[in-house]
Amino acid sequence: MDGISKRLFERAQSLIPGGVNSPVRACRNVDSLPLFIAKAHGCRLTDVDHREYIDFVLSWGPMILGHAEASVSEAMHGAVRRGTSYGAPCPDEVALAQEICEALPGVEMTRMVNSGTEAAMSALRLARAVTGRDKVVKFIGCYHGHADPFLAAAGSGVATFSIPGTPGIPGTVTADTLLLSYNNADAARQCFAAHGKNIAAVIVEPVAANMGLVPPVAGFLETLRDITATYGAILIFDEVITGFRAAYGGAQTRFAIDPDLTVLGKIIGGGLPVGAFGGKKCYMKQVAPGGKVYQAGTLSGNPLAMAAGLATLRMLKTLDYNALEKRTRDFAGELGHILRAKGVPAQTPSLASMFGIFFRDGEIRDFNDAEQCDQQLFTMFYKQMRAQGIYLAPSAFETGMVSFAHSEDDFAAALDAARFVKFD
Ligand SMILES: *Cc1c(COP(=O)(O)O)cnc(C)c1O
Repeated sequence: MDGISKRLFERAQSLIPGGVNSPVRACRNVDSLPLFIAKAHGCRLTDVDHREYIDFVLSWGPMILGHAEASVSEAMHGAVRRGTSYGAPCPDEVALAQEICEALPGVEMTRMVNSGTEAAMSALRLARAVTGRDKVVKFIGCYHGHADPFLAAAGSGVATFSIPGTPGIPGTVTADTLLLSYNNADAARQCFAAHGKNIAAVIVEPVAANMGLVPPVAGFLETLRDITATYGAILIFDEVITGFRAAYGGAQTRFAIDPDLTVLGKIIGGGLPVGAFGGKKCYMKQVAPGGKVYQAGTLSGNPLAMAAGLATLRMLKTLDYNALEKRTRDFAGELGHILRAKGVPAQTPSLASMFGIFFRDGEIRDFNDAEQCDQQLFTMFYKQMRAQGIYLAPSAFETGMVSFAHSEDDFAAALDAARFVKFD
């Protein structure tokens, strides 16, 4: 049935490490093989074996308008004909920067890069430069791309002791990364009481979407805003997922918190490789060439990518986020009912156009809670949904994504598939 995907994957494994260009795509967590995709349109993917899927991954977030949306495609076609890279400024860079600055209250100036990883790495460099401090507070289970300082793992028991999370990173690098539990305001206060004078920045996903979906509890983000201000540290919101998704103006608009720096990616590239970091002018002006903090990129502000991002944001501005949020909430709620009616513990939180699937009871506030979900149940669910044409993220720790292209029929089809799933 998956004949061509299977053969491609076999070839890929001898040419590309693990056969994939980003690890989670290999589907190892769910004991499956990856599907090779031939094309995508709206909320549907078609694999190389001509099977069609309703897509709840959406390239991990960027495709909030659905795939191959007409206005975005048209903008890109136009850009292709004008040449795809100049290594010099182009008009759409200014237009996209303006859309971003107008949408996000915390962003007065922004610099384009090529990925979320680059954006987070550059924001941290800037925070360290402007504070003259080295330490960064990160929350366990939050993902900020794969730059060295963010790939820290929790060391033995002590909350603030961290070790490299992968070979290849010197312990001296992650020694400056302080790890705390998400949603634990007290731990953040204690950490600042002990290390405050040495902390350059706190980086946080304002809605955690890389440990399943874990919204912030009341007061958590406010506490981070208060203590960073008190101690003269920089508050960095990583809005790579939540930017233009938690609300058009991101989680900072939704929760009315004004971060010093913001990290963006995914949606702002409209499906092309784009990231951006931005923030208050007093900080951003210190980025080269105006300031001394070096940061650069051969393809940054790429005209094709800018055209895709700009067309995406302009279309999004005209759409009804509240309606999409309601559709997502209804869908996730019904999915939860269906699963629990089968006698398995299941929670399906949602926020804006994101949803989580946790196979466990009890409150989920941080990574430790998320980790206790039943991964075997998730794997059974994933496989049976995929066999019925429903494409979910191949990990219990990713967030489900909904687009403006998902119709009532698409949600109904996904719920019908869930009704057929068996857990025995
Ligand atoms: C995806 C993601 C990143 C990394 O972005 P890349 O473009 O994959 O480098 C950073 N932060 C968050 C919150 C993300 O979800």
